[in-house]
Amino acid sequence: MTAIRIAIVGLGKIARDQHIPAIAQTAGIELAAIASRNASIDGIEHFATLNELLENVPDIDAVALCTPPQVRHAQAAAALKAGKHVLLEKPPGATVSELAPLIAVARQSGLTLFATWHSRFAPAVEPARTFLAGRQIRSVVVEWKEDVRVWHPGQAWIWEPGGLGVFDPGINALSVLTRILPRPFFLIEAELSFPANRAAPIAANLAFSDATDLPILAEFDWRQTGRQTWDIRVETDDGRLTLSYGGSRLVHDGRTLVDEKQAEYRGIYQRFVELIASRVSDVDLSPLVHVADAFMLGRRRNVEPFTED
Ligand code: NAP
Repeated sequence: MTAIRIAIVGLGKIARDQHIPAIAQTAGIELAAIASRNASIDGIEHFATLNELLENVPDIDAVALCTPPQVRHAQAAAALKAGKHVLLEKPPGATVSELAPLIAVARQSGLTLFATWHSRFAPAVEPARTFLAGRQIRSVVVEWKEDVRVWHPGQAWIWEPGGLGVFDPGINALSVLTRILPRPFFLIEAELSFPANRAAPIAANLAFSDATDLPILAEFDWRQTGRQTWDIRVETDDGRLTLSYGGSRLVHDGRTLVDEKQAEYRGIYQRFVELIASRVSDVDLSPLVHVADAFMLGRRRNVEPFTED
């Protein structure tokens, strides 16, 4: 089988840090072109826009959209129309409803649409899911607290409508929770803190429940300095399960079950190759639905303006 020729669209932080190395390490797929307005890589064919790329490099099989979510839908629609398989960075779009037409076109055209949730590929996530499947769960607490100045410097889009603010990392926690908990859960209360000069929240407190009245609390905060926290703690009838470092470590009552370096994006590209081979899509919108609910139900609180320096 010849390798899938993929183009990266939006050569920013995640494309450079994760996508390019992961493609290079994955059998069956190779980087063939870049579409990015302001960035390129020596030796790789480059175009300023996706449309120029689609016009000039017709032998591309797939695109990976690593642009901000606000432009994802138009790019995905253009790529599918041109007959390309599409990998969407998270979040898969700026709205929930924009995904349905893309899913329909992919299905009708026999193309793969893959909405990736990179945190689900963290090494502790599947072991946590298996552990929890056999236990009674009593409570869940999520603490996703990081310093926005460290992790998102200069990313103006993240503060704009559709950029999600603190839900940009927070949706990763929700992608893990929706994978590891045995039942669907739903939002019952939320408070979102918006800096007075920004269109997206800098912090969010969320309370969820499920059909068994399970209490699930989540705190997302971008004002964390010092120790950064990406933890999920689950109390069960068999002790406490803690996922930390975004899902790379799993501890049960003080005993370490998993402690591995992340290789999330290699897992993503292996899965993309498999999905394309089987001509199927993988689009789970549940993490995005929870975020939409938070914007719908959440009480809005104004907090002090945010400036980068
Ligand atoms: P980024 O560093 O801002 O890169 C995005 C790139 O997209 C930019 O460099 C820019 O390249 C292009 N772009 C920006 N605005 C655009 C527009 N209006 N139209 C077309 N292209 C535009 O952002 P990122 O951190 O890589 O994040 C991109 C996506 O990946 C986000 O959805 C984010 O949630 C997700 N993600 C990020 C991380 C992370 O750690 N940073 C981790 C996982 C997932 P040009 O100016 O050259 O076109």
